[in-house]
Amino acid sequence: MTKIQMVDLHTQYQQIKPEIDEAIQKVLDTTTFVKGPQVTEFSGALAAWLPVKHVITTGNGTDALQIALMALGLKKGDEVITPDFTFIATAEVVALLGLTPVVVDVDKDTMNMNVEAVKRAITDKTKAIVPVHLFGQCADMEPLLKIAEEHNLYIVEDACQAIGAEYIFSDGTRKKAGTIGHIGCTSFFPSKNLGCYGDGGAIFTDDDELANRMQAIANHGMTVRYHHDIVGVNSRLDSIQAAVLNVKLRHLDEYTELRQQAAEQYDKALNGNQHLIIPARAPYSTHVFHQYTLQLVDTDRDALRQHLSEAGIPAMVYYPVPLHRQKAYHDARYSDTDFPVSNYLSNCVLSLPMHTCLSNEQINYITDNVIANIE
Ligand SMILES: *Cc1c(COP(=O)(O)O)cnc(C)c1O
Repeated sequence: MTKIQMVDLHTQYQQIKPEIDEAIQKVLDTTTFVKGPQVTEFSGALAAWLPVKHVITTGNGTDALQIALMALGLKKGDEVITPDFTFIATAEVVALLGLTPVVVDVDKDTMNMNVEAVKRAITDKTKAIVPVHLFGQCADMEPLLKIAEEHNLYIVEDACQAIGAEYIFSDGTRKKAGTIGHIGCTSFFPSKNLGCYGDGGAIFTDDDELANRMQAIANHGMTVRYHHDIVGVNSRLDSIQAAVLNVKLRHLDEYTELRQQAAEQYDKALNGNQHLIIPARAPYSTHVFHQYTLQLVDTDRDALRQHLSEAGIPAMVYYPVPLHRQKAYHDARYSDTDFPVSNYLSNCVLSLPMHTCLSNEQINYITDNVIANIE
């Protein structure tokens, strides 16, 4: 059995090595390292695959979020609602732009933004909601879209963990994560579901005007060469990363299936154990399993992690500290008791290895060891 890793990028690379090597070699041969044809090819291919009208590539997922928020023309002190239980980048860009992040509690089963908490958090200053599709499953977008319409708010989706996940509306229509709100953002960090071999990100929108603004902001606020009508940043996906992504996008549906199969196998072995809650599947979303995240019940998480680690099995806690408990985001308006669910989750979640190259043997070994070491 090969060594078990949280994410096995090496085995995946070996499987697609000829395609990847050829794609990278082409960039080397032409030396168009920035703004090469691979970048245009990739944005076009991703826009068609999602589908969405505009894909603007960026240097990483955090930049994508920042550029999206910059394009909304918000003022200092305007409030942006984000979930309390997420990666820091979601709230970080809000704070960085002088806007006020307002964090809300999440649902216990899906671990995504709680719709009622969003309603309670809305004030006169609220201008946008940034739902995160955590661990690969969409937040409940239909009620969020309704709230946004009622209060005239923007929705910027953080789809960094959920590329390919489909939201299912009550009339049965489906839209992919990142194409549901006004703007969607994703990351191509190597361990993400569609990962490159360095840093990368993208912004999605169907809105022509927002697309033009974001394109300009990502390029120093420039529309006509050396004329800067708005303040921008420099954020680009480079040609080598785009070349890798062109290859991996062709495999993405197959990769998603492999993740879903691994998750089903985990479920079969772990479901019904009184010390474990397997990941909930929301009726309104498919799950692309960026992470396979258990909730432990009456179990010493550190002891379990230690046992697993001794057996050669990595397991991670995403996320151990909710945003409202982070020093940099301290806000006197909150009390710790406003976030019972994210506090609970941060104490009991455990993510098992999840990637596209897990063998049956590895999964059986992992689940046997989990069951043998919980009590
Ligand atoms: C990875 C991630 C980001 C940031 O992406 P980078 O490419 O690392 O900047 C933002 N939000 C969430 C939820 C993420 O998982």
